[in-house]
Amino acid sequence: MPAPIDLHSHSNISDGVLAPNALVAHAAERGVKVLGLTDHDDIGGLAAARDAAVQHGITLINGVEISVTWKRRTLHIVGLKIDDQNADLKQALGAVRQGREARAMEMAQGLAKAGIEGAYEGAKQIAGNAIMTRSHFAEWLVTQGHAKDVRAVFKKYLVKGKPGFVDFEWMSLEQAVGLIVGAGGLAVVAHPGRYDLGMINMHLLMHEFRSHGGSAIEVVTGSHTPPQFQQFAKIAHRFDLKASQGSDYHGVGRSYMEMGYLPDLPAGCVPVWHDWPEVQHLS
Ligand code: AMP
Ligand code: MN
Ligand code: MN
Ligand code: MN
Repeated sequence: MPAPIDLHSHSNISDGVLAPNALVAHAAERGVKVLGLTDHDDIGGLAAARDAAVQHGITLINGVEISVTWKRRTLHIVGLKIDDQNADLKQALGAVRQGREARAMEMAQGLAKAGIEGAYEGAKQIAGNAIMTRSHFAEWLVTQGHAKDVRAVFKKYLVKGKPGFVDFEWMSLEQAVGLIVGAGGLAVVAHPGRYDLGMINMHLLMHEFRSHGGSAIEVVTGSHTPPQFQQFAKIAHRFDLKASQGSDYHGVGRSYMEMGYLPDLPAGCVPVWHDWPEVQHLS
């Protein structure tokens, strides 16, 4: 039986579909016993998720997925076991969310130049109280008939060189890792296989990440292929990093995969949870 542990998921606090309590209920239903809620640049869903986890008899791991700019690319750094009352973390994430608002307005201006009016208002309506992400723009653009699905809409409008893309400067790698570690957490490079880094930059990233105090990389995630599980297991070993796993679930229509289907980490990986008291009863 694969470990019923999923350390990467999104609620509607960021760009997931389900509210934190519904997400936890869904995870429990899918057999997940230890769930990390890792919303983009926001920890506002953790309190409700924690309460729901108690109700459903599963363990919630406090998480966040911080957007980072490194060598002019966007990377995601997951923080696990963070203290969600940490003032520095709360303040820094608040600043990122303000930046997201400004970015969303700029994205809408870009789309307007391409003849698509009203994107800010449209995306805002879909986002509701959530932070503004490209996922919300994508969904709105699809409802307006600008592409057949979210995948196509990203390609056409929301990636580098396209009208809705804004080259936004996120946090530095050092700052993100520092905030996570400062809040008592473990920093994890999210889905390293998605960054299209060459081998030299990938190794440089791992080296820098570790020197800033990073602990682990995601080896098994919804956006890695099985050969990538092996590839990143080797990289984890080489850089003395632990291995994490998570579905990156966003909800029906927005996710890379369903919860509860994660294959085991490749043999030889040291799981990021190897010394966590809350998982001892699972093995
Ligand atoms: P943002 O942080 O606002 O740039 O939004 C990034 C989010 O958009 C990611 O976390 C994914 O959920 C989603 N996303 C990025 N690229 C794609 C894609 N090609 N297809 C579908 N969703 C994507
Ligand atoms: Mn997302
Ligand atoms: Mn991500
Ligand atoms: Mn994610």
